Amino acid sequence: MKKEVVVLNCGSSSVKFAIIDANTGEAGLSGLVESLGNLDASITYKLNGNKTSFSLSANAGHTEALNAISTIIEDTGVKPVAVGHRVVHGGEKFKQAALVNDEVLAAVKDYASMAPLHNLANAKGVVTAQKAYPHLPHVCVFDTSFFQTMPQKAFIYALPMDLYRDHGIRRYGFHGTSHKFILDSTASLLNKPVEETSVISAHLGNGCSVAAIEKGQAVDTSMGFIPLEGLVMGTRCGDLDPSLPGTLQKKLGKTADEISDLLNKESGLLGISELSNDCRTLEEEAEKGHEGAKLAIEIFCYRLAKYIAGYLIAVPSLDAIVFTGGIGENSSLIRETTMGYFAHMGVTIDQQKNLDARFGKGGEITAPSSQKTVFVVPTNEEWVIAAEAATFA
Ligand code: AMP
Repeated sequence: MKKEVVVLNCGSSSVKFAIIDANTGEAGLSGLVESLGNLDASITYKLNGNKTSFSLSANAGHTEALNAISTIIEDTGVKPVAVGHRVVHGGEKFKQAALVNDEVLAAVKDYASMAPLHNLANAKGVVTAQKAYPHLPHVCVFDTSFFQTMPQKAFIYALPMDLYRDHGIRRYGFHGTSHKFILDSTASLLNKPVEETSVISAHLGNGCSVAAIEKGQAVDTSMGFIPLEGLVMGTRCGDLDPSLPGTLQKKLGKTADEISDLLNKESGLLGISELSNDCRTLEEEAEKGHEGAKLAIEIFCYRLAKYIAGYLIAVPSLDAIVFTGGIGENSSLIRETTMGYFAHMGVTIDQQKNLDARFGKGGEITAPSSQKTVFVVPTNEEWVIAAEAATFA
């Protein structure tokens, strides 16, 4: 029997929504509301393969968006059993998904001090959706929860300890729902219990992170206090010398917020290539000889390979290295270049399998003789959110 869940991901000016069958992960409906608070607010959705778009009233906010979404859902005839909300930051309090009540909502708002753009919009989404679906259980599923198993040696920064004790300054990790999905899928592929499965999972999309998972438990990850540390991303810089934000502030005469924008929105693949944050565009232009595009791809893969190599010591029982996310699932070039750094360790990518695994197909991409196994697994974060929410239905 189908167990359908409304999955919502509320941003400050957008709402991603879907109806997911918690048993199969299938999306009967998926859509996006964009430009909330602007003149061109609009909604686009796909239902049974058919795409529909329409404008919302000028300056429409979250309430109008949720009303439009609940009307679309009502028209499908689906009777959802729960609403799952993606919430970015769950701090140390939320080690798993939580049924919304006043205390949970207050904590989500409280953690906005660490993820201001995300958590406030997430909380607004919860409150608005509760009005649209007052009789359903609303469940917060946190990006950070999966990483609450990390040991102190992985999450404490080498800063004065009172900053951790008094201000919660530590590494939290993000993309937890995707890495959890990769763990579960790899366990199924290998026919092993999840708690005996060990994976290095590389989620490479606009945001990028690697997770080290030893016997079903996250033991390290590349993102830290906010989703900025670690890998090179579309527009985010990843690891930097910690003196740089202060130096740049002085040199460029910018405010702390402007430097934060520079590191989050103008750096990464876009900053290096001076061309685009889109990996597809960079691959096309690199092929034609664009030096910036070539360098951006080279740095992206080298940084990623260094993280994977580092996590080989964190994951002694490694079963597989897994690529996922828009880049991880589709770019055979990024996978081949990254894993090329492991050739001297006996890792061999099968070029045909690597090409065949693109565009949602997935599968193993290493040769039978390879010393480590590498998979491509298409992620499904919404399914994880739906499955967690359904447990409260
Ligand atoms: P996501 O955030 O997971 O949707 O991933 C977005 C990223 O995936 C963008 O950088 C896209 O350029 C990249 N991407 C999607 N399809 C491809 C492809 N066929 N080849 C290379 N990169 C791709």
